Amino acid sequence: MSALNRPFVNMTERSLPAGPHNDADPVVPMLGRLRALLGVDTARLCQLGPGGLRLVAASGSSEHHAALGRWQALALQSDQPLIVADTAAAGDRPGGLRFYAGIVLPSGDDGTPLLLSLGDARPRSLATAHRLAALAIDVTSRATIARLGRQLEAQAQRRRLFERASQTARIGVWICDLSDQSLEWTDSIYDLFELPRGSMLDRSVTADRYTAKSRLAMETARAKAIADGSDFCVDAEIITARGSRRWMRLTGSVEVENGVAVRIFGMKQDITEEKLLADRTRYLAETDVMTGLANRSQFQTRLADLAGVRQGAAVRGLLLIDLDGFKDINDSHGHALGDACLREAAARLTACCPDATLVARIGGDEFAVLLDGAAEIADIEALARAIVHAVGQPFVTDGQSIKLSASVGVAQYRGGTEDDLFGHADIALYAAKAAGRGTSRTYTY
Ligand code: GH3
Ligand code: MG
Repeated sequence: MSALNRPFVNMTERSLPAGPHNDADPVVPMLGRLRALLGVDTARLCQLGPGGLRLVAASGSSEHHAALGRWQALALQSDQPLIVADTAAAGDRPGGLRFYAGIVLPSGDDGTPLLLSLGDARPRSLATAHRLAALAIDVTSRATIARLGRQLEAQAQRRRLFERASQTARIGVWICDLSDQSLEWTDSIYDLFELPRGSMLDRSVTADRYTAKSRLAMETARAKAIADGSDFCVDAEIITARGSRRWMRLTGSVEVENGVAVRIFGMKQDITEEKLLADRTRYLAETDVMTGLANRSQFQTRLADLAGVRQGAAVRGLLLIDLDGFKDINDSHGHALGDACLREAAARLTACCPDATLVARIGGDEFAVLLDGAAEIADIEALARAIVHAVGQPFVTDGQSIKLSASVGVAQYRGGTEDDLFGHADIALYAAKAAGRGTSRTYTY
């Protein structure tokens, strides 16, 4: 524990022992050297704590003890070093103390003021007294600078720990000065963009690293935040300096001074792995793994949003497609080939419907197509016929030709619920099956 930090138990001025202090104390030798250098009887360092002035360390004669108290109190009130060339001339009853200099040092390690007092039985000329004080200030400032250096090193160490922690979390801090758009990043953001740490930053260049969609999202959120002082959070995709694609979560806050946005700052976190995992999880939750089409769950979600409030355009038409005699295909060619037929049917269906809102596999051999826009019933029926034709082509695989066939039910949305629309398409599909399969029928209102 350093002398400056130890508790002041019984170390008030009153308990100041006579003579030099313990030489093991690192501050005492420093005071001793200072006393020898300046040629004064006594040098002492006190700290202004909540209970008043407390002695930290002293060197030299203690006979000036009683006389020092008054001058120390005056020195503390002064914002300049207090230099008394001759205490007798200053009206004091000297009590052996004729010269006094009191210098308040900026702070101790814990931020409280320190008072350095020098005293001597001999008075000095005014010029000598000032020279002594200047020398003392010079020496103690160097000591203070050394202490501040230690504090700065401790801060730098804390910063390094912070940097390490943020690198582990792949989070970095960014600040942009809005007066000139100058940017500052911490190391983690350089790493995220795969740029050399500390290299020059130009916002227009770094903004070019965003994909077009992400850049639009970022610039929109940023402009809104600057306009109304709000915070924002955007997930954005970038292409790094080395050409890799990465996702980051970008947060921003605006600093406003006198009603004007002056700075925008926030964090960027590399979320590439989380994003890929979330995308994969969503893909699995929404996709029919065998055919790659949307699954029944995604189909129902989209169908439930007939007006397209959440997911875009309103639904205008529904086609339900069911393979004909598929049980027989399974029975004759085996389940594996049956699967291959399902994949082939899915591919042909997708090729027929480039403008569909959604093409889904909603059951064993059952598919659905959702259409939006102002599709006329004639167009929807033409599409149904094209599907019957395309899926009806023989499927040649492993040297075998398998006869495929599909029936299609068509319903146009004319109001009502999603169950109504589905029910109408199902009735039409049943009609197509009843009409001999390999054909399409439309629900008539
Ligand atoms: P219909 O003409 O009336 O549609 O008769 P279908 O033989 O096609 O019979 P249906 O549509 O009622 O039955 C579909 C069959 O599809 C039932 C099941 O054996 C088969 N199936 C369901 N899922 C799969 C699958 O994942 N792979 C394969 N290979 N067959 C499946
Ligand atoms: Mg079938």
